[in-house]
Amino acid sequence: MLKIAIQKSGRLYEDSIKLLKECGIELNNGNKQLKAAAFNFPIEVYFLRDDDIPQYVYDGVADIGIVGENVLLETAKDIDLVYRLGFSKCRLSIAVPKSVDYNSIEDLKGLKIATTYSTILQKYLTDKKINAEIHEISGSVEIAPGIGLADAICDLVSSGSTLFTNGLKEVEVILKSEAVLTANKNLSTENKAILEKLLLRINSVKTAKNNKYIVLNAPNDQLKNIAKILPGAKSPTIVPLVEAGWSSVHSVVNENDFWDIIEKLKQFGAEGILVMPIEKMIV
Ligand code: ATP
Ligand code: ZN
Repeated sequence: MLKIAIQKSGRLYEDSIKLLKECGIELNNGNKQLKAAAFNFPIEVYFLRDDDIPQYVYDGVADIGIVGENVLLETAKDIDLVYRLGFSKCRLSIAVPKSVDYNSIEDLKGLKIATTYSTILQKYLTDKKINAEIHEISGSVEIAPGIGLADAICDLVSSGSTLFTNGLKEVEVILKSEAVLTANKNLSTENKAILEKLLLRINSVKTAKNNKYIVLNAPNDQLKNIAKILPGAKSPTIVPLVEAGWSSVHSVVNENDFWDIIEKLKQFGAEGILVMPIEKMIV
């Protein structure tokens, strides 16, 4: 049985549960419990505060866990980062009051910086050879400059609206973070095998999200050109249409090249292009 720790409520909760669900893992009970067993996969889910997850994974109370990379680095526990999950993206940044004339990192010298991320901030300042004072506080970091507690802050930012409403501007990005899957370094052989199975599922969900299934009609004299830009999983499927001289082409395209490919397909005379989401993709 593999024990996975996830946040019990907060910004990581919804997407963590959604990921398990997309992996076909169904949980027995609601989220108000401390733990829930899956009835169709050998996994047990523990609901915890995100800050405690690295410690629990390190101690082996949980085998694996989902946390923000920011929390993983701040707690600095010796556990493995096994997979970048791509949700809960944010950055850890330094911000100063809008009125401050900020030109370079040198301007941080001698300042008092409030943060809940003193480990990451200290390492960053040391690397950059900046001597500044770190003032560790436990929450509401963004109000620190306004009440005279600090000259600057180091905190998580996503849209920047919290900084804006507190009269602050982002001046340095220290870390780009996202949710990650972490694991204890000494998993049993049995649990390693379950983790491998879980990773195969996570990967297929993620790959599917990055790809679309595409079906289109094309004139036969353009099929060679079209096949070149639509490689698909191996190569496209081509089926003749009833109308002479035309074929139906089925393939898979990556989200990143999507619009480029559509434009080229149109140039090659493709018609009736249908694009559909893929639920799972095992490559
Ligand atoms: P807990 O009660 O579990 O300690 P928390 O208040 O510390 O929760 P949340 O605010 O739910 O934590 O954030 C969890 C994680 O979500 C963060 O560690 C970070 O990785 C990510 N995150 C994404 N965007 C933001 C943001 N704008 N502000 C804070 N965290 C963010
Ligand atoms: Zn927390």
